[in-house]
Amino acid sequence: MNTWAIRQVAEKIKASTRVVVLTGAGISQESGVPTFRGADGLWKNFRAEDLATPEAFDRDPLLVWQWYDWRRSLIKLLKPNAGHYALVELEKKAEDFTLITQNVDGLHKAAGSRNPIEMHGTLWRVRCLQCKKSFENKEVPIQIPPKCTTCGGLLRPDVVWFGEALDEKILHAIYTCLQRVEVMLIVGTSAIVQPAASFGLVAKRAGAFVTELNRSRTAQSSLFDCSIQGKAGELLPQLVEHIGP
Ligand code: NAD
Ligand code: ZN
Repeated sequence: MNTWAIRQVAEKIKASTRVVVLTGAGISQESGVPTFRGADGLWKNFRAEDLATPEAFDRDPLLVWQWYDWRRSLIKLLKPNAGHYALVELEKKAEDFTLITQNVDGLHKAAGSRNPIEMHGTLWRVRCLQCKKSFENKEVPIQIPPKCTTCGGLLRPDVVWFGEALDEKILHAIYTCLQRVEVMLIVGTSAIVQPAASFGLVAKRAGAFVTELNRSRTAQSSLFDCSIQGKAGELLPQLVEHIGP
């Protein structure tokens, strides 16, 4: 069943020039990155929704930084998996390729993806609350609370928290690309967190062939042209193999 569906998607990709891939926490699951919604996403009994917010950071920046330091220390040890590498191969095959990720773990870049749109930011950058500059920072452990080397202001993780708006320029680039895309893959995302949850439907409405690759069915599975259940680290390499050289 999966083989037939994968072959169909591979044919669609071969016949098109513009391909977009949207990834979520599921693509990093096989690398060992905890997803937010599983029990492995808990830290000292706090839920991510109670720590990844501007209010939590205002109330207790040290606590929020301790949580980020914990996540950075776990993720620093991890490696991209076959799913990440397959997307690097797909990028080479497609004439016009865009990778949009909701993940903040940096694993697409580590695998070699050239220019992923990290729409929720990255764990490996920090931003100064005072002078607004952002810097790469890969220190593990990070000194808590981290201070800006330019102005001494408090640094925050350069990620988009629950309740925060996405960068306008990034959103504009994404919607422009969704209007033109011919084939879209939605990999390992629960289709709950907006606005990413609507990207597949936007592309579909604009005429794209949209395929979901996920370990389980999601609330949107029936809305797409194709929904394939399985692990990203197995399905994506198979897809790339079917596309051929
Ligand atoms: P999510 O945790 O809500 O959903 C993960 C989805 O991946 C689920 O639908 C699950 O069925 C699927 N999945 C799990 N393992 C899979 C596998 N091996 N292969 C294919 N599919 C698999 O994640 P989300 O939709 O990305 O939303 C969570 C939000 O939290 C995002 O905004 C993201 O920024 C953030 N987050 C990021 C990371 C990360 O950077 N790796 C981790 C956790 C959460
Ligand atoms: Zn500063």
